[in-house]
Amino acid sequence: MGKHYDDPRMHTAEHVLNSVMVRRFGCERCFSSHINPGKSKCDYHFPRPLEETERREIEEAVNAVLSTGTPVSEEYMSRKEAEALFNLARLPESAGDTLRIVRIGAYDACPCIGLHVRNTEEVGVFRFISHEWNDGILRVRFKLS
Ligand SMILES: [Zn+2]
Repeated sequence: MGKHYDDPRMHTAEHVLNSVMVRRFGCERCFSSHINPGKSKCDYHFPRPLEETERREIEEAVNAVLSTGTPVSEEYMSRKEAEALFNLARLPESAGDTLRIVRIGAYDACPCIGLHVRNTEEVGVFRFISHEWNDGILRVRFKLS
């Protein structure tokens, strides 16, 4: 298990941020992330820089999910089943033939081997630190308070 999975609060916030990005912009979940207890970053394939109004919308949408106390649960399914439902590109081969699907209420579902909180209210408040766009890649930095 990679170091970047070691902070359950930050990593659960990453799941919610990804879901907000997919729902709001129709982009893919982040293709790369660095999750640390103090601050984290996620990289998205994205066609343009983010506007400030969008930054606020994203922050509000993430916090709306976090603050409602949504249960985080897990279920298992075969890799074959999961392939039809999810993008497995970021999942290591070592995850095996039976995959764990992590659900955040009815809001998000994603195959993942990382550590998560039991309820989104444990995560705290999501804050953007910065966002920058270069050559088709949007980098979002965030922290929790
Ligand atoms: Zn996860």
